[in-house]
Amino acid sequence: MRPNAWPARNGNWIVSSRKKPSSTSACAPPIWPGLLKPPEEYASSTPGRPLSIYRNNLNKYLQVADIILNSEIWRDLTGAETRLPHALLFAGAAGVGKRELADALAARLLCEQPRQPHEPACGVCPSCLMWASSQHPDYRLLQPDAALEDDEAGDAATAGDSTDKKKASKQIRIQQVREVEEFFHISGHRGGARVCVIDPAEAMNPITANSLLKILEEPSVSFYFIMISHRWRRLLPTLLSRSRRVMFGRPPDEQSQRWLAERQLAEHAKWLPFFGYAPLEVADAARTGRLKALESVVADLLKPQEALAQANRWENLVKADGALSMEELVNTVQKWLFDLGQCAVAATPRYFPQQNKTLDAIAARLSLPVLIQAQQQVFQLRAWSNHPLNPRLFLEDLCVRAFRPLGL
Ligand SMILES: [Zn+2]
Repeated sequence: MRPNAWPARNGNWIVSSRKKPSSTSACAPPIWPGLLKPPEEYASSTPGRPLSIYRNNLNKYLQVADIILNSEIWRDLTGAETRLPHALLFAGAAGVGKRELADALAARLLCEQPRQPHEPACGVCPSCLMWASSQHPDYRLLQPDAALEDDEAGDAATAGDSTDKKKASKQIRIQQVREVEEFFHISGHRGGARVCVIDPAEAMNPITANSLLKILEEPSVSFYFIMISHRWRRLLPTLLSRSRRVMFGRPPDEQSQRWLAERQLAEHAKWLPFFGYAPLEVADAARTGRLKALESVVADLLKPQEALAQANRWENLVKADGALSMEELVNTVQKWLFDLGQCAVAATPRYFPQQNKTLDAIAARLSLPVLIQAQQQVFQLRAWSNHPLNPRLFLEDLCVRAFRPLGL
């Protein structure tokens, strides 16, 4: 086995230049200054943080029900007349099911049983069994070392290995692409299709992307690249021109709710607006316990207390294991202030539509200029929410700024 290609629980073969990346924080989401910039851009530019739900659903990739989120795209890509190109680019917001569909498509391409149009992988042939056990030799997953932190942290904890303290890279390294190049030029182990999933494609810097470009330019009838991108406009034009772009939009609400219901998460469907209508983001927040912390924050925001008392409550919340990060907390306050602004001008709340009446009642006693000022001040705080010098003082500052419009 190659030292930097190994099977992992969340996606068959992993190609990486490192073996045990240390944990690292998620990429910083973009910031928006309250009313000054429409927050619609938030969902479409959320960075490519890998969702650990993939690992839990590995065996479900083979089920049709798992891809109902993007059933139209699935039908397009698996039709009788469809001839898949050498390189596909799945582009769209994070958490709308691009990776799930990419894995389902990879499993279908690798499956050794004849498939009817739109039919998923059989799930019982040797290839599917290898896929389900993360051992398929004709599949490669290319992703940054930092994206593997969930799996590797678990493995390191089991093995008691704490020797590698170096921070994991958030970029796909050129050595990883060279491994794929070698994989590309050898014949397949099973004699069928070979698949390489790149998640996310924007994690490649120009040098790495150019290296990949050389492989993309070589024709191949049975080798498929599936690139996933949450920020496809950042990709090299040459990369875009050599792949077929498949756009993933916001899933219909009904599909998202059904998707959540199938995972016993129907009660959390109310969080879809908050997470930009990305059901996988909701599921990930529920799995990691962040949703419970968010419930607590929103309850506090709907019944705001005196600023310093509030800071004390949130300090405990941020310190708790598996709770919100400081950045997520500030982001939630930003969304709450934005929705107050919406209600103040008789518009519909964007992130908390179910709290419309409560927000209306709070907004009725607000001064709009003071509210906008609070939004701007909280926006400024967001810039250093990842590394506050003193978390307690930071939270007090946040609460004072956020609750000033309420006269608290
Ligand atoms: Zn099969």
